[in-house]
Amino acid sequence: MKNKQYKILELQQKFFKSGVLDKIEYRKNALIELKREIKKNEIDIQQALYIDLGKSEGESFLTEIHFVYNEIKIALKNLHKWTKRKSVRSSLLNFPSSDYIIAQPYGNTLHISPWNYPFQLSISPLIGAIAAGNTVVLKPSEFSIETSKILEKILHNIFDKGFVRVVQGGPDVASSLLNLKWDYIFFTGSVKVGKIVAKKAAQFLTPTTLELGGKNPCVVDESVSMKTTAKRIVWGKFINCGQTCIAPDFVIVNKKIKEDLVKEMILQIKNLFGNEPKKSSSYGRIISEKHLNHLESLLINEKILYGGKFSLKEKFFEPTLLEIKNFSSKIMEDEIFGPILPIYSYEDFKEVDEIIEKYKNPLALYIFTKKISFGEKFLHKHSFGGGAINDTVVHIINDKLPFGGIGNSGMGKYHGESTFNTFSHFKPYISRPLWIDIPLRYPPFEKKLKFLKKVLKIT
Ligand code: NAD
Repeated sequence: MKNKQYKILELQQKFFKSGVLDKIEYRKNALIELKREIKKNEIDIQQALYIDLGKSEGESFLTEIHFVYNEIKIALKNLHKWTKRKSVRSSLLNFPSSDYIIAQPYGNTLHISPWNYPFQLSISPLIGAIAAGNTVVLKPSEFSIETSKILEKILHNIFDKGFVRVVQGGPDVASSLLNLKWDYIFFTGSVKVGKIVAKKAAQFLTPTTLELGGKNPCVVDESVSMKTTAKRIVWGKFINCGQTCIAPDFVIVNKKIKEDLVKEMILQIKNLFGNEPKKSSSYGRIISEKHLNHLESLLINEKILYGGKFSLKEKFFEPTLLEIKNFSSKIMEDEIFGPILPIYSYEDFKEVDEIIEKYKNPLALYIFTKKISFGEKFLHKHSFGGGAINDTVVHIINDKLPFGGIGNSGMGKYHGESTFNTFSHFKPYISRPLWIDIPLRYPPFEKKLKFLKKVLKIT
């Protein structure tokens, strides 16, 4: 018997086959509608993000809503260019021929999103999927309840359910959706669940983007300007209460400046969130009691340099700095994903390279140094998703930079044109006339080989 999820897919298959999405104007209008509907619901979106994560209006606008507007703007501006058939130079052996590449939508796509930037991480991939002409089933997170509700309201209000459909639920629902044969799966979440998704996708060989997490190192050498360095690290770490996939997970600082850096970081935490972050309208909350309990457990046996207070009832966790002497403690095992920043001091930079290798393929890598070419060499040497010299997190802002992980931190890239590319199969074909047929490629070759090599310039 067909289950509920199967019927949802069947409806989307029918919609895709109808061919309406072949029309670029249809896709454009869908994006215009989406923008209009988001604008109409902006206050409710902000309110939902506040209830779910204690996000301030400013943070919600900058990191969620504006982000999405920008992605829509880019897609609308470039859609004709992106979807245009591209001509490429043909190869000599095929002479005469015309060679082309066309962007073909995959078809029916499944999106599974997390709770930490629940609006942006649900809508951004969807924009690219629509721009490329796909249908979308979105399964948002069961933790960011209010945002998931508003996502459903917005998308169901403007789109035919065969085109875009929101399905609410937790792992069970996600799992039963993954039992179906999709044409593309876009998953954002943890490494653990990413592996489950990849396994399920493998049964149908479904192409998949996995946007995962990881432990992102942030290296600080002795040459830095203390104030700006501290401010940029603290901002990147404690924005969204540390629940950011590309937040610095831990700091590795030159021993000579460690004390000064810690002092400056404490000062900067106070500048950003005041002496009592609980009262600051700019400081967020932990998504759930379960997640807060986990963070609390990470503090056991650790040396707290600053912060460490929390309140289960209010889902509040203070910005916290720790000193670590080695990498064997529990907090250094997995991504922290909360407002706790362990700080390790190194004596010899060789040690830094070894640590980075230990946490291979992080989603992000940061280095603070006045020696820019040294910083560049360092970033070139190591493998990671994306990163920055002398800043944290902000590489995500530039839509011209493809965003994504490598190895353990995921596969695939998106943002701006990369999202359109993600949801498109670039289909090549050639077109040849029938009035001429140069016999070079046909056997027997004996008499042609010499000439062939000459023509193809192979000595
Ligand atoms: P999660 O993996 O627990 O959940 C993500 C989504 O998967 C949710 O919708 C959830 O319902 C679903 N899910 C959970 N268990 C499942 C299962 N067994 N089978 C199928 N689906 C299942 O992640 P989370 O806690 O929501 O988000 C935090 C994680 O996401 C962190 O690891 C973070 O680094 C990562 N993340 C990555 C990016 C990125 O762009 N790379 C962005 C944000 C968050």
